[in-house]
Amino acid sequence: MTQPTQPVDLRALDLFAFCRKGESLAGNVAVRDLPRILAETAAQAPASAPDETFAFAATGFVREEAAEPGAPVAQRLFLDVTVQGRVWLECQRCLDPYAESIDTATRFEVAESDEAADAAPMDDDEVDVIAGSKRFSMLDLIEDEVLLALPVAPKHDVCPTVHESLVTGSDGEAQPEAEPEEEKRPSPFAALAGLKNKH
Ligand SMILES: [Zn+2]
Repeated sequence: MTQPTQPVDLRALDLFAFCRKGESLAGNVAVRDLPRILAETAAQAPASAPDETFAFAATGFVREEAAEPGAPVAQRLFLDVTVQGRVWLECQRCLDPYAESIDTATRFEVAESDEAADAAPMDDDEVDVIAGSKRFSMLDLIEDEVLLALPVAPKHDVCPTVHESLVTGSDGEAQPEAEPEEEKRPSPFAALAGLKNKH
């Protein structure tokens, strides 16, 4: 594992060389440099939200192995990426902003091209295949990782308003799941699935 000898352009990294040399890099990227995360950020988020950063680490490596049993042994390129930080989202229950923690760790196989990535077998659940490039945007990949980690239905674990009402309860003990009404309501996705099935 070696550090790149030259300053790295996160928007134009030679990903093939990065993996072949077994390089690694780590750093921080600001939310303001990730437009798709900014778009997801709650309107009522603290003014400092765009200045918050994600810590990331990326390590490339090579394995000499067959892509599948019986295939000739070849050099396969891999990339491990971790991203940690938080995104200010709007709680769907109380509509207040809250910070959703992000902590991802993903292994990618780096294909030679878009075509090779598309042709890769889809049976390996543990490794996503991405198309490599000599001008690869690590920034885009980090942004993708954060977007994939976002919840479909963002919510506080316990909404501040719900929490206060529980505190005034007679026994003073907070109940972990005090949302019977919401549980009964079908989710929008369940409703969609129902529509699909009718066709
Ligand atoms: Zn809430």
